Amino acid sequence: MQLSSLLNRFNEPETLKMAKLGRELRAKGIDVIDLSLGEPDFDTPQHIKDAAIKAINDNWSHYTPVPGFLDLREAVCTKLKRDNNLDYAPENIVTSTGAKQSLANAILALVDEGDEVVIPTPYWVTYSELVKIARGKVVEIRTTVENGFKTTAAELEAAITPNTKVFMFSSPCNPSGAVYSKAELEALAAVFRKHPNITILSDEIYEYINFVGKHESIAQFADLKDRVVIINGLSKGFAMTGWRLGYIAANATIAKACEKLQGQFTSGTCSITQKAAVAALTGDLRPSEEMTEEFTRRRTRTLELVKEIPGFKCFEPEGAFYVFPDVSAYYGKSDGTTTISNAADFSMYLLNTAHVSSVMGDAFGEPNCVRFSFANSMGNIEKAWGRIKEALSKLK
Ligand code: PMP
Repeated sequence: MQLSSLLNRFNEPETLKMAKLGRELRAKGIDVIDLSLGEPDFDTPQHIKDAAIKAINDNWSHYTPVPGFLDLREAVCTKLKRDNNLDYAPENIVTSTGAKQSLANAILALVDEGDEVVIPTPYWVTYSELVKIARGKVVEIRTTVENGFKTTAAELEAAITPNTKVFMFSSPCNPSGAVYSKAELEALAAVFRKHPNITILSDEIYEYINFVGKHESIAQFADLKDRVVIINGLSKGFAMTGWRLGYIAANATIAKACEKLQGQFTSGTCSITQKAAVAALTGDLRPSEEMTEEFTRRRTRTLELVKEIPGFKCFEPEGAFYVFPDVSAYYGKSDGTTTISNAADFSMYLLNTAHVSSVMGDAFGEPNCVRFSFANSMGNIEKAWGRIKEALSKLK
């Protein structure tokens, strides 16, 4: 049997691979602490669950409109006005089975063979693979720990060519935790003004998990708004990863294109989830704020523990729930059996020796770094970093 060549164009997500390896060790009875996956460990807030239960009892059991129920798209508009002071109409909104699908829709709607998509490193694993699926070309802008993992106007300008079709980034960033300020976005906006054919994909899924202040969207610049596709979803901010609800806000042409694509792939997302999402987007935000308060405490503790590890160069995350240290100081070191040559070796060594799972930075376009989540209980965070410290002390 010959599978399609499409499958050779992209990789399976490294994040899911590591989680799978961790699960396999756990099945053998080993106490593995999972710092690899990116999802809140909290329960979905009660008022959202109640709305879902009501939707089941009210028999919301039929196919849904492809872009989502009208009341859900109105709720997204209400949220965008309330949180971001942005004006959108329901025709600008397409909801989906997650921000991942929304990103896929947008890339497939915009990128043709050979089109260049500029992405600052480090970036979320799926970005580059979606571009490859669309036969586009990934153009990386390398950012570093030293510059806060953010791209500058000059670097952006240098990466743009006549073939650039899309610029995509996340703020807060998974995996680095970088959060762009309004002034930093304004500097990038000035570059985009000179290149009117570039569409900007702004992934804002970690919007609520921000440790440094107000979330800023690049769509706030009125003259750019029509070229920005906001990607967002309920997974992170409302602890709803399994419910599968993402959305875009974009100009009506892009929204229609995404709807057309989605109409052949999945149709509208789950009816129950959509009704619950209305409650999430228009309801009390206090539970989400409480989650961020807990992430703030865990971030502080994680950074204290990371400081005890010799050799790490670690940026203090401004948002999201990861630390992403440069671990290259360990390259060439060995415990007598295993020698660490790269971030993948480092990550595997920690899984096998400390029984802590992490994700190697290669997957995020940053080969010297490793991502550790702090979306885990304080007890597990303490235990995991204790074990990591001990395992690394054996490397000479
Ligand atoms: N964008 C980023 C930056 C993410 O980290 C994730 C999830 N890990 C997603 C999008 C996808 O989220 P969803 O669960 O809504 O598909």
